[in-house]
Amino acid sequence: MSHRTLAIVGASVAGAKAAEAARESGYDGRVVLIGDEAAAPYERPPLSKAVLRGEAEPASTRVHPDGFYDEHDIELVTDRVVAIDSSSRRLALSDGDTLAFDAAILATGAEPRRLAVPGAELEGVRYLRSVDDSNGLRGAIRAASRVAVIGAGWIGSEVAASARQMGADVVLIAPTPVPLGHVLGNEIGEVFRRLHADHGVQLRLGVGVGELRGSGSVEEVVLTDGATEAADLVVAGIGVTPRTEVAGAGCGLAVDNGIVADQHLETNVAAIYAAGDVANAWHPRYGRHVRVEHWANALNQGTTAGRNVAGRREVYDRLPYFFSDQYDLGMEYVGLSSSSDELVVRGDLDAREFVAFWHRDGVVSAAMNVNVWDVVEDLKATITADRPVDPDRLADPKIEIGDVVGATSR
Ligand SMILES: Cc1cc2nc3c(=O)[nH]c(=O)nc-3n(C[C@H](O)[C@H](O)[C@H](O)COP(=O)(O)OP(=O)(O)OC[C@H]3O[C@@H](n4cnc5c(N)ncnc54)[C@H](O)[C@@H]3O)c2cc1C
Repeated sequence: MSHRTLAIVGASVAGAKAAEAARESGYDGRVVLIGDEAAAPYERPPLSKAVLRGEAEPASTRVHPDGFYDEHDIELVTDRVVAIDSSSRRLALSDGDTLAFDAAILATGAEPRRLAVPGAELEGVRYLRSVDDSNGLRGAIRAASRVAVIGAGWIGSEVAASARQMGADVVLIAPTPVPLGHVLGNEIGEVFRRLHADHGVQLRLGVGVGELRGSGSVEEVVLTDGATEAADLVVAGIGVTPRTEVAGAGCGLAVDNGIVADQHLETNVAAIYAAGDVANAWHPRYGRHVRVEHWANALNQGTTAGRNVAGRREVYDRLPYFFSDQYDLGMEYVGLSSSSDELVVRGDLDAREFVAFWHRDGVVSAAMNVNVWDVVEDLKATITADRPVDPDRLADPKIEIGDVVGATSR
């Protein structure tokens, strides 16, 4: 065993996969995985789905089985890193200890954006990021007379769906005309609007929240159009911000919408890497820095960072990918579209069984399968081909998706 030390800050999916990958790639120094949550490293997607609804045990979401960290000689430390000195390569923990390191991987993730309206501090206003949040929210939903979900992005939409599935009376409030419109556009967002409406969610769309009112505990949400919605539980899903405190002033690490990293996930300081939700990494495909807030990115970037610490020079150039489950709708999305891309649909929007493609002049930038399965590899191939295809063939269910690129070019 060498005398080197790898410090990994943040013990969730990116951090835990980084530790695993470093060991698998032959890193034989000390590996110290530091996280400020009491639970062993776990994955968050079930926290708004089966775990929230009480259908799965929180422990089922662990990244690794019991004993994994001991078996791989990975030291799990439960503490918060309060500062990193990148020139002396030393980090400070909240209990006063310090740790010298040769290499570090920063995988500190993101945290929910807080509501900034009068009344936001009232009892009964909640956010969802951790397993503790999910456990607390489950009880609160069960006890609530009416749940107001603020924000119709992925977290808001999934919480609204789970709360309805738990039998709660739910109102979903968002400034956008449809749920998820900022990622999927209005036409596909409309599928999600109808999905929630069909399941009995009341929707207040195209309107903001001006204030939360109540005496001690929240009782109503005042909308910017002056209307009010009764609610004794408010869940805000209004986005996240990257947790960059460890790269604070004087640390020497570049921070801009996350910790800035290159295509190897290395920061501006040699042998310090960033991975997962916190990393704003150079993406060779897009020719710019991209920060992705999804599970697969955290898992795969953690793995790449761990391998690179162990001596590889792997480039991270995977297509962004994410998934969501709401009621009986399951979907996956791959790629990165821009709002000016055109939409082509294969399948039936009303039946909620389709594949959507976003393209510019026939070159596909992103695709999404809804209740259609085992097509993601073909969707990726359609995107990475970087060749124009005939949009009519994309829309034609008689042509296999895998054949559209292979057989067609204009
Ligand atoms: C409820 C929920 C549902 C989701 N569902 C989906 C989904 O369906 N599909 C999908 O693709 N993605 C989903 N995501 C997103 C996905 O979970 C995240 O992209 C992923 O968790 C990012 O992993 P990470 O390891 O980068 O960061 P995080 O999971 O945020 O973990 C970072 C860890 O670092 C710790 N930490 C931070 N600062 C310090 C410090 N200074 N010292 C020590 N520890 C520190 C944090 O406490 C945390 O434990 C969901 C997220 C949530 C919250």
